[in-house]
Amino acid sequence: MFDLLLTDEQKMLQQMVHDFAVNEIEPVASENERNHKFPREIIEKAGELGLMGIAYPVEYGGSGMDYVSYMLAIEEISRYCASTGVIISAHSSLTCDPIYRFGTEEQKQKYLPDMLSGKKIGAFSLTESGAGSDAGATKTTAKLVGDKWILNGSKIFATNGAEADVFVLLASTDPESKTRGVTGFIVDANTPGYSIGKVERKLGIRSSSTTEIILDNVELPKEAMLGNLNEGFKMAMITLDGGRLGIAAQALGIARASFEDALKYSREREQFGKPINSFQAIQWMIADMRVRYEASWLLTWRATKMKDAGEAYSTYSAMAKLDASETAMFCANKAIQVHGGYGYTEDFNVERYYRDAKITELYEGTSEIQRLVISRHFIVNG
Ligand SMILES: Cc1cc2nc3c(=O)[nH]c(=O)nc-3n(C[C@H](O)[C@H](O)[C@H](O)COP(=O)(O)OP(=O)(O)OC[C@H]3O[C@@H](n4cnc5c(N)ncnc54)[C@H](O)[C@@H]3O)c2cc1C
Repeated sequence: MFDLLLTDEQKMLQQMVHDFAVNEIEPVASENERNHKFPREIIEKAGELGLMGIAYPVEYGGSGMDYVSYMLAIEEISRYCASTGVIISAHSSLTCDPIYRFGTEEQKQKYLPDMLSGKKIGAFSLTESGAGSDAGATKTTAKLVGDKWILNGSKIFATNGAEADVFVLLASTDPESKTRGVTGFIVDANTPGYSIGKVERKLGIRSSSTTEIILDNVELPKEAMLGNLNEGFKMAMITLDGGRLGIAAQALGIARASFEDALKYSREREQFGKPINSFQAIQWMIADMRVRYEASWLLTWRATKMKDAGEAYSTYSAMAKLDASETAMFCANKAIQVHGGYGYTEDFNVERYYRDAKITELYEGTSEIQRLVISRHFIVNG
């Protein structure tokens, strides 16, 4: 698939991840999802295969590949389990990335080898109860007292929250200055005063953990600050550009799963004495699903190539995420339609795809926020 656009190395990785996903992830995906069980063993194996640090340099323990390779892996994994896809995406693009991009050499040496090999899991915590789309409205504070930072407040909806060892989180260091007064910090999960609060029960991606984080007089050394003082909001936005591509890849995986399952079922299911794929109504749904998937794949690939080439890709990342997430919703919806009433039951995976697809329109910026980012770019730049 898309052979012309991929290098031999990328195709080899894609095949390796496909085999891993079919052999190890697919057999347990539905059961884990039903039990809200975090796939710890799968994440450990993903680490052994180098999938927790695909697009990072070998010198820090990464696999030294490009972002296209990373995206292919997230799509392939999400094809079989969207929860596993977001666990790896939140770890890699949201947590390892700011440490790699903005961290001091000491921070990189301290955290990246264990994180990129999957020995430690990362989580990124920007959102608060009063700061969602308005992510800069953070109320969590970090105050420098002597040579220590003291953090107080609470964050919500942290993916990997209950499982992570290392957190990148944002706190207000200068409340008056709003988004220009936010700073990033790296926090080890075992730091005193740091705890997990509410664990969310969710519509989909139930094998991934989503939690509240409570900071009660958390004392951090000065060296825990990530990036420059009061530049955390900018850092978070840059981080989200890469993260949104990861979510686009997750959405593509869900869309492809929906298409492939619908195609298979349409061959097997007979009504009126023939396979349902002989009915034009079904044929059109199959066609529409595939067109939407192919188009979203190409837009996502384009945005990812821009990132790999070092071009400004923020707007294209928003476009890819917006489009791929709507494609995932479209395809999951059609896949249930092709399955008829059976598609509404837990006997088939398409109901899981439908529930999983919805989150891609919400996190790392809702579809409305993506439209805002995209329109703003063209209105301002022409
Ligand atoms: C399962 C899950 C995992 C998550 N993982 C993480 C994570 O790992 N780290 C993290 O920091 N956050 C995470 N989030 C948070 C997520 O990114 C936010 O939920 C999301 O950005 C939306 O914020 P909100 O929920 O507060 O919605 P709100 O901002 O309250 O939005 C409500 C509605 O208003 C619309 N809206 C808001 N502002 C505007 C505007 N200016 N123009 C037009 N429409 C607008 C929104 O689009 C939406 O439809 C996660 C959330 C979930 C559900």
